[in-house]
Amino acid sequence: MNGISIDDLLEKVKIYNKEGLGDIKKAYECAYYLHDGQVRQSGEPYIIHSLNVAYILAEMHADTNTICAGLLHDTIEDTKISKEEIAKIFNPDIAELVDGVTKISKMNFSTKQEQILANTRKIITSIKKDVRIIMIKLADRLHNMRTLQYKKKEKQQENALETIEVFAPLAYYIGCYKIKNELEDLSLRYLDLEAYKEIREKREKIAEANTPFLEEMVLTIKNLLEKKDIPAETKIRIKSIYEIYKKESKGKEISEIHDLFALKVLVDNIGNCYQSLGLIHSKYHPINDKFKDYICNPKTNKYQSLHTTVFGEGGKIFQTQIRTFQMDDIATNGLATYWDIHKGAARNKMQKELKEKFQFYRSLQEIDDSFLNNQEFVSQIKHELLAGKIYIYTTEGEIIELPKGSTPIDVAYSLGESIGNKMAQSIVNSHLVPITYQLNNKDRVEIVTDENATGPSPSWLNNSKTTVAKTKIKNYLRA
Ligand code: MN
Repeated sequence: MNGISIDDLLEKVKIYNKEGLGDIKKAYECAYYLHDGQVRQSGEPYIIHSLNVAYILAEMHADTNTICAGLLHDTIEDTKISKEEIAKIFNPDIAELVDGVTKISKMNFSTKQEQILANTRKIITSIKKDVRIIMIKLADRLHNMRTLQYKKKEKQQENALETIEVFAPLAYYIGCYKIKNELEDLSLRYLDLEAYKEIREKREKIAEANTPFLEEMVLTIKNLLEKKDIPAETKIRIKSIYEIYKKESKGKEISEIHDLFALKVLVDNIGNCYQSLGLIHSKYHPINDKFKDYICNPKTNKYQSLHTTVFGEGGKIFQTQIRTFQMDDIATNGLATYWDIHKGAARNKMQKELKEKFQFYRSLQEIDDSFLNNQEFVSQIKHELLAGKIYIYTTEGEIIELPKGSTPIDVAYSLGESIGNKMAQSIVNSHLVPITYQLNNKDRVEIVTDENATGPSPSWLNNSKTTVAKTKIKNYLRA
């Protein structure tokens, strides 16, 4: 893949976008000229990196401007061209995208640490401006991680850690699972090579042992669906090495992971998802408490699917995932799928959807508004958004995403400022609990309000996790 050429890129783009080819060629020639003479640590000409980044974006069917920006992404930082010149030669949109992925110059800072923090903030908050910037950044990071072997050991550790802490969670938030999984597996190789190799080996062996049973199930399911005239495609997927690593660090054996394998059944519409589910259950008994309906209850990153773990062939348990083709695209590339679905309107649709429907966006906005200091901003983002999360249900069955350690106070304020300020009691899973109770995943939380409630006290600040709650409590106490 490293030896990728402009023709390979154009070939890839041609599949979904014929009009953009001229501009992309021009961006390539410009990047080629500007980076001429520069080499990467691998010894390859620099342009190979630009091409690879653009190619990763083309795999996600990115629009013409994004591909051009992918080719030019390092030119402002590493060559003599300016943002204004890019705007003139190409267009302002491409210039904004390239500028968005450009590091803030170190001349603006007295220490290296300050520069790093400011740039982390710039990357994360660029989602508010244009999520395509993050997608270019993810493609950039992915190619850098794929070629990390040429870097010094210290740099490898630093990049791998940053990838796990910042980039993989960002990819998750916008639903780019494909990139997230590859980034995590690549990082683990550098952070814990022993564990990586050990899991890879075990995983391969288990896969080999289970393939015949999975293949038999694929055939059986295909026959079942065919008889009912449901057109379907099936795929087998195995959990990523890093996902297995995470389960193992929580004390689970690889053989105990119920969704180590997933048999994916893709159909053309939602009705057929449920019909397929019934057919599969009629043949393979489900484990009742392992059934999940992410079609009616999508994940907060818009992932949709039915998950059911069944007693499959050979007395083994396997997860089946049933979803439509479009849901499968979203499960692979997340928001980037909008490029295919909405074509020219994709960029605006992405921003609108993020603002209105993605919970993390509001938290990000709140944190950005509350912390002027870059170090505090990054630390809060890491604790509140990028670290462990829990998902709780409201009384209406809505799912709320919260940082681990959250309490009913956080739930109340995420539902609204007045609900928080008037909270009197909290009920979790039908039991009255103190409002400082630490919530667990899947808790059902009811907030009881009272017009005569005494309102927040300073102790609430120590018993809440989210910036939304803390900010509103501080406002109330000040007033
Ligand atoms: Mn780069």
